Amino acid sequence: MKVCGILVAAGAGTRLQAGMNKALTPLGGEPLFLYALRALRPFCDHMILVVREGESGLFEEALRAAHQGPVHLATGGQERRHSVENGLKEVPGDADIVLIHDAARPFPGPSLIRRVIQGAAAYGAAVPALPVKDTLRRQEAGLTRTLSREGVFQVQTPQGFQRDLILRAYAHSPRSLTDDAGLVELLGEPVSLSEGDARNFKITTQEDKKMAEMMVSGASRTGTGFDVHRLVPGRALILGGVVIPHGTGLLGHSDADAALHALCDALLGACALGDIGQHFPDSREEYRGIPSLKLLEKTRRIMADSGFCPLQCDLTIVAQKPMLAPHIPAMRRNIAQALGLREEKVSVKATTTEGLGFEGREEGISAQAVAMVRETA
Ligand code: MG
Repeated sequence: MKVCGILVAAGAGTRLQAGMNKALTPLGGEPLFLYALRALRPFCDHMILVVREGESGLFEEALRAAHQGPVHLATGGQERRHSVENGLKEVPGDADIVLIHDAARPFPGPSLIRRVIQGAAAYGAAVPALPVKDTLRRQEAGLTRTLSREGVFQVQTPQGFQRDLILRAYAHSPRSLTDDAGLVELLGEPVSLSEGDARNFKITTQEDKKMAEMMVSGASRTGTGFDVHRLVPGRALILGGVVIPHGTGLLGHSDADAALHALCDALLGACALGDIGQHFPDSREEYRGIPSLKLLEKTRRIMADSGFCPLQCDLTIVAQKPMLAPHIPAMRRNIAQALGLREEKVSVKATTTEGLGFEGREEGISAQAVAMVRETA
């Protein structure tokens, strides 16, 4: 089943900050739209980002800095409806399910996204919904009266649709509604409800923004990792995904990149998801000689499935020789790419042990890592 995500980031956001597209306003130091993009990405085979006319340069720059490629850009229209329509034009013909999400909701968790995809596959259209908890009152002619909240739901995004259904819905009605399921309803087709999540709120006001900032800063966890490999002749020396010219290389079942192994362990540790040996055992033939950058990408996927995303990391490689400083920029770039982070969130350092211990005797290389992750569900 192929899933295509459309992230709508073409709104004006006038209530939040004058003169700036809400999707580009910073949250935890990064443009808001990146949060939803990172959340949807593991579930989508194809990603379309709908941006305001004239702003594609700003979005491309943010995507590049955060190593978030490839994303297909589409240009937004006058109203939300036109923006989604432009996004739908770019949906590949082999997509089964289309997820449409508003960039102003930065925290759609993995279980919520899974439920919407399953609902859309089973019923044609599915929207995440939350029962209304507060009592409702309506103001009429100076009086207020209680409304029944029985069977009343608040609807969120991503909304999921079988591709043909959502294309038909948009072709059928020219109306501008506040969501996409409304157009499916105008076709006379049913819309199923899947369980929403209160954390998947929409940022509209400054108070919402403050709450989002609290969520970003409050839900972080830390992990540590450590690894050692033996130096032997006849093996390539690979550290941080960089092949480093040297007379000896690290011995191991994979490419024996001790730096990335320590980092994988730190990331898994922060999520309490076990360690690298459990997920990628050296008894498995498929991991023989595997580049550890692949293991790092797989680690990121395991984290995403369990509701975590990387925030930042710091690595120390302990080696007497060779000189690692010239290779550090390439290591940072590799790691940032594999984790979908900006390079300034990735630190790599190298040290010797002044000739002491096994590293000093050049019998092996060790690495230590600390990683911070954020809970996404
Ligand atoms: Mg190892």
